[in-house]
Amino acid sequence: MLSRRAFVIGTSALVVAPALPTISAAPAVTATARAITPMWAVGTPGEFDWQAIRAATPEEAWRAWLSETGWPDDDRPFEKSGVQRIPQWDDLETVRPTDWIDADMGHCCSRCGYETHRDAGGRSVGDEVVCEDCFSFADLMAEGGGDAIDELANKIADEGEDEAREGLISSGNWEHVPPDLWQAAVVICRVDARDTSGAGHE
Ligand SMILES: [Zn+2]
Repeated sequence: MLSRRAFVIGTSALVVAPALPTISAAPAVTATARAITPMWAVGTPGEFDWQAIRAATPEEAWRAWLSETGWPDDDRPFEKSGVQRIPQWDDLETVRPTDWIDADMGHCCSRCGYETHRDAGGRSVGDEVVCEDCFSFADLMAEGGGDAIDELANKIADEGEDEAREGLISSGNWEHVPPDLWQAAVVICRVDARDTSGAGHE
């Protein structure tokens, strides 16, 4: 059953969505709006031959991609699934590797060159696309957040606070651990330990 809160959120989402085209079509906006030619990702579905193309229509984007990749026009009829509209690229002057991952598209890892995707653990790290294999402990700590704290908390739970710290120092990783993340992980482990002992652990 839908809770009232969920119902209210659902209703407001429905109201907001159809209002958007009206706002962008309002005459007042045309005075300041630049005529931006839309951006598309164009390529072969399942292949890593996609390119960022600026074109007025999907068909035009497809033809531009064919000529850039050297396909004779007649060889490849327009494939709808080979052209994806990427509105978040419209304002970009150049589409960088991380823009592909941020748009939930695949890209080659900046470090090892292998193909990666967000589903496969690929992510943006600064200006780099980094695959799951290349994503390091230092990257995780720099990223911060719940995943980084979990990693530290698991270490502390397994090895104890002092041992875990010693291990990180000797592997050269301690310098990458922000003090606030470490402190958060220590607190989590203390709370977990208390809960476990309170639950009848011998
Ligand atoms: Zn990699």
